[in-house]
Amino acid sequence: MTINSSEQQDGVNKSARSSYSNLPALDVSLAFPQATPATSKFPPCASDYYINFDGLLTSEEQAIRKKVRECAEKELAPIVAEGYGCPGLSITGAAVALAEIARVDALTEPDYGSDASALRTTATKVEGGWILEGQKRWVGNSTFADLLVILARNTTTKQINAFIVKKHAPGLTATKIENKIGLRIVQNGDVLLKNVFVPDEDRVPGFKSFQDTITTLSISRLMVAWQSIGIAMGVYDMCHRYLMERKQFGAPLAVFQITQQKLVQMLGNIQAMILAGWRVCKLYEDGKMTAGHASLAKAWITSRARETVALGRELLGGNGISTDFHVAKVITIFFT
Ligand SMILES: Cc1cc2nc3c(=O)[nH]c(=O)nc-3n(C[C@H](O)[C@H](O)[C@H](O)COP(=O)(O)OP(=O)(O)OC[C@H]3O[C@@H](n4cnc5c(N)ncnc54)[C@H](O)[C@@H]3O)c2cc1C
Repeated sequence: MTINSSEQQDGVNKSARSSYSNLPALDVSLAFPQATPATSKFPPCASDYYINFDGLLTSEEQAIRKKVRECAEKELAPIVAEGYGCPGLSITGAAVALAEIARVDALTEPDYGSDASALRTTATKVEGGWILEGQKRWVGNSTFADLLVILARNTTTKQINAFIVKKHAPGLTATKIENKIGLRIVQNGDVLLKNVFVPDEDRVPGFKSFQDTITTLSISRLMVAWQSIGIAMGVYDMCHRYLMERKQFGAPLAVFQITQQKLVQMLGNIQAMILAGWRVCKLYEDGKMTAGHASLAKAWITSRARETVALGRELLGGNGISTDFHVAKVITIFFT
């Protein structure tokens, strides 16, 4: 394909310019006619992942899965979206919905990440409310969120409490963390709290100690696990279509047993990930999920997702590093 002069290029599509070269992007469907890019049409589910997934779900959960899938395929694909929970749904329903589309709490601080229970941000009781002082880091979408849930140490009880801080609260600043290469769909921010007043009614009731943080983290760990399941499913579907369309040595790549073996390994991973994620949702619904269940599920499921995405990257050859074919996009989520 011929590259036009820069004047003609200006007429093309400024939004499609590469952020590195400032040249317009080629139309991938023309430049690479043997496989459909994810940017033009996201592949439908290639199979039920050999697990009869719907058979694990209630009819309500099946309906939400179908609805979210339709919306995700049409409206969101290939963007990997952040979930905000689904009030009124069972945890399985919320998890499955998240898996079909792919959190704003401020816990982490510059000096306290893994060691979050030692956090330094303070909440001091004053007449009619609380004064928050401190700093948070990595807070997802904090730069434009209407509300932030800030975890801070109560200066009287020394316990960790949660407070809702509104977007334009005086003394609150959120600055976007630049130069991030992974999970670019989420704007992570540095949040500064200087003498921020929070009225009594905006203290989160029932959030009395770090134990309540652990409960919240457990649910978000389970949701992250399901995000990984959804991402792995999308990668499998993308690779399945690609191998059927792309021909080498006179035949679609899908006929070669080494590519089939990789697809089978991906499918087996997805099947096991769904079962592990579903089981922990059921434990939650029965009131039996522990922090250990959620942590192990997240660690194991995300590890299988990494493996699945790495296999997907191999299957796409050169296009495995092109965001036009989806897999490269999710590599940055799992390997950064
Ligand atoms: C994309 C993204 C989104 C995020 N979103 C949010 C958000 O919305 N809200 C929020 O509050 N935070 C958020 N975080 C922050 C996240 O929770 C922290 O990054 C995480 O808790 C780790 O803290 P840290 O980065 O300070 O790493 P550190 O705690 O400095 O850890 C660095 C390394 O040391 C290891 N390590 C730490 N302690 C030990 C130990 N005792 N033994 C062995 N190894 C250890 C860790 O495993 C890690 O590999 C986000 C982070 C990312 C990358």
